[in-house]
Amino acid sequence: MSNTIDNPVWNNWAGNISAAPQQIARPGSEEELAALVQKAAQSGQSVRVVGSGHSFQPLCATDGLLLTLDDLQGVVSADSTSGLATVWAGTKLHALGGPLLAADLALENMGDIDRQSVAGAISTATHGTGAALRNLSSQVVGLRLVTAAGDVLEIDGDSAPATFKAAQVSIGSLGIITQATLACLPAYRLHERTWAEPFAECMERLDERIAATRHFEFFWVPGEDVAACKALQPVETESWQVPEDLSGLSERLRRYIGPERVDWSYRIFPSERNNRFVEMEFAVPAAAGPACMQEIRALMQEKHPAVQWPVEYRTLAADDSWLSPAYQRESVTISIHQAVDLPYAAFFADVEAIFRNYRGRPHWGKLHSLTAADFVALYPRWNDFLAVRQELDPTGCFVNEHLQRILG
Ligand SMILES: Cc1cc2nc3c(=O)[nH]c(=O)nc-3n(C[C@H](O)[C@H](O)[C@H](O)COP(=O)(O)OP(=O)(O)OC[C@H]3O[C@@H](n4cnc5c(N)ncnc54)[C@H](O)[C@@H]3O)c2cc1C
Repeated sequence: MSNTIDNPVWNNWAGNISAAPQQIARPGSEEELAALVQKAAQSGQSVRVVGSGHSFQPLCATDGLLLTLDDLQGVVSADSTSGLATVWAGTKLHALGGPLLAADLALENMGDIDRQSVAGAISTATHGTGAALRNLSSQVVGLRLVTAAGDVLEIDGDSAPATFKAAQVSIGSLGIITQATLACLPAYRLHERTWAEPFAECMERLDERIAATRHFEFFWVPGEDVAACKALQPVETESWQVPEDLSGLSERLRRYIGPERVDWSYRIFPSERNNRFVEMEFAVPAAAGPACMQEIRALMQEKHPAVQWPVEYRTLAADDSWLSPAYQRESVTISIHQAVDLPYAAFFADVEAIFRNYRGRPHWGKLHSLTAADFVALYPRWNDFLAVRQELDPTGCFVNEHLQRILG
């Protein structure tokens, strides 16, 4: 039997979203999950699923049934010959590194943290940085999906190409993913180097560094007008760490600058993010990244000088998942942040206007005000996605108020 809680209150990680579902259910098997979805759909109850609740949008909010896959975690199989690992969709990314390493495998790339669930990260096209590297959804080569009818579909690019391209990034709107098969790399170590330099110097050398580094990114720290840079490169050596004297750095910079070190990739990628914030991020065409960044900096210096949270600048390779913000477009992603308990609406609205001018596509899990009318113009396969959605969820079982606004 699945664990259920009646009339709970649910909050996301940042604390800017809360919901009052009728029930939160934690199924212990795929069969239980399918039965719960089928029953809810038949009685007209809306169903949403939550991973780690790290999205800033009300993606998981529902007044119906909220499912969590916390009891459906772990590696099902991992094969170093094929490079494929099949994992339960509720598995947290931080629980994946060790078991993958045991099979001599690793994820090709990861984002800033490793607290997300596999399915949550896939469903919003979560990404790291690296001009030649695509988002996590692009590493998916197969999915098991429970539909509103309670059917379990096994989909991949060969057996169901259209459904698969839709399901790779689907914000939980097609059904519940129960397992994902990921294409991995042989386990590898990364050398991490972080440093601070004047913003102008960072922009001058940006193209060269992006081209020369597997993962390059920087945070522009507004108060000091400094770029906190991070470069990660694969290396063959054993793990090591050199302590560094960080005493000359401001408290803000010390969050981004650390010791030089080498370790397994899954230990190098994630940082700790303990202060609660809200975030907006758009993917803009790669060539427009520097100009967009300069405009945001000028806006913040002139109109929003009180905002102290850094702006993150990353690169992302093009892919072919229909709803990926990097769909058929080499991209730069730029994210702005503010403490969750400080005013952010006017600041975010001003920056969003800049992103829109660059034909930016918002991160599905982060704050934005775009609606279906905007998306149809930004995503060439938007209507094809809606057709797959209509086929898999004809009664709108998986649609909440937010999805209604963005899907139309
Ligand atoms: C501190 C912090 C750091 C972050 N860093 C990055 C980063 O570096 N890069 C980046 O791209 N993003 C980043 N994000 C955003 C984050 O990766 C996404 O919002 C991601 O979706 C969160 O994963 P989650 O498991 O918490 O998903 P949730 O927020 O719980 O859910 C996200 C979506 O996935 C759906 N979903 C969850 N499980 C399933 C399932 N089993 N089947 C179908 N749909 C499902 C949900 O319904 C929802 O629509 C960050 C967020 C925070 C708070």
